[in-house]
Amino acid sequence: MSGLSQHSDYADVIIVGGGMVGLALACALRHTGLQIVVIERGEPQVRYSLGRDCRVSAIVRGNVRILEGLGVWKYLQEDASPMRQMRVWDHQEAGGIRFDCSEIEEDALGYLVENSCTQQAMHRAILESDNVEFCCPAEIAELQWQREQVTVKLTDGRTLNTPLLVGADGVRSWVREQAGIGVWQRDYKQKGIVATVRPQQSHRGQAFQRFLPTGPLAMLPMTDDLCSIVWSAENSEAERLMRMEDDAFLQALNLTFGPMLGRVVEAGERAAFPLKGQLARHVVRERVALIGDAAHCIHPLAGLGVNLGIRDAMVLAQEIADARRFDEDWGALSVLDRYMKQRLPDVLSIMASMEGFHQIFTGRLPGLKELRGLGMRLAGNSGAIKQILMRNSTGLSLPVPKQIS
Ligand SMILES: Cc1cc2nc3c(=O)[nH]c(=O)nc-3n(C[C@H](O)[C@H](O)[C@H](O)COP(=O)(O)OP(=O)(O)OC[C@H]3O[C@@H](n4cnc5c(N)ncnc54)[C@H](O)[C@@H]3O)c2cc1C
Repeated sequence: MSGLSQHSDYADVIIVGGGMVGLALACALRHTGLQIVVIERGEPQVRYSLGRDCRVSAIVRGNVRILEGLGVWKYLQEDASPMRQMRVWDHQEAGGIRFDCSEIEEDALGYLVENSCTQQAMHRAILESDNVEFCCPAEIAELQWQREQVTVKLTDGRTLNTPLLVGADGVRSWVREQAGIGVWQRDYKQKGIVATVRPQQSHRGQAFQRFLPTGPLAMLPMTDDLCSIVWSAENSEAERLMRMEDDAFLQALNLTFGPMLGRVVEAGERAAFPLKGQLARHVVRERVALIGDAAHCIHPLAGLGVNLGIRDAMVLAQEIADARRFDEDWGALSVLDRYMKQRLPDVLSIMASMEGFHQIFTGRLPGLKELRGLGMRLAGNSGAIKQILMRNSTGLSLPVPKQIS
């Protein structure tokens, strides 16, 4: 625990969920003078693979700028591995495409970081402020919705009142459920297998994504020339891959990935995550806002889930800070609507592109192969299309606040 007195019965904002997105919101609000309480039921145990957290995220260049502005990046940068190039190709080797950071005049397209490192860096940033209380392990027993506030009763008997409750509690959000908000869901019937692997050759900052009919295989550059794989496969195939002995898995990986980095010589422990797309039917209600996976969950093939969540956190923090400056009630629907309206275009366009990618690369309709090849050739040969794609996917074209005061 840090910051506020344990017995305080009021918080300006209560954030439920201390994952990367909930913590990003706490970081963004920590210097505003508002009293913030984060309620985390107990962070999931880190699962190690070759000594590294098997959960990693590619943080795109635009979001690195946000984390720099938040004062988080300074604690994270030595654990971050730059992605300078990305190579995308499909199972028929038709029209591969290469993205290079020099084409958008940046030093990297993004950085690969272990999720636990990001969380630790955010915790360090939060400790710089007395305004954030991190309660863990803690859970809410009951919520009472009133006109002007929400009363939050914790399982330890403590009661807190707040004008705004934020659900940052992940894809199965309890807050969302308590607010009576349903979801649109898309089950990809796939699992994402993650592991740390060691290739023979240095990755030299290259990331690889190979699209297969059963789902994409990503090989992402980590520090010390290790790589992280995210191998998305249909459920039965994923289960088969998970059951394999280490040697058989390495062989399957080498066959599927190819010789781009020589052979992959070692693979650490594997973990598998079910993949689904999901969007909350409402992102805000009076006195409630959803951010991160609680609001939307996307296929990890573009590595954008937490990037979207961090952008949610920044825009919501800005709206809360502005409302306070102008003496508005930041839990009122009129204020929260402004957050929702700014975020929906970004979220919906990314969700639609993920769906499109998924269909184009896994669909079996006649003509799709040719369409895919043509699309890749067009994107690869046209500097302008490539620039737009790169600026959009790295979040560099978005007007997102980098600092809140
Ligand atoms: C295989 C895979 C690879 C991915 N790769 C990338 C990538 O490269 N780049 C990227 O941007 N995204 C990636 N993602 C997506 C990314 O991991 C998620 O978008 C991100 O973790 C969501 O963060 P969050 O904080 O919203 O939710 P979570 O990480 O789910 O955090 C929610 C937190 O809330 C807590 N909580 C839950 N319920 C309660 C409750 N009732 N009370 C209190 N606390 C509660 C949980 O303990 C948890 O700490 C990937 C996802 C997968 C599955």
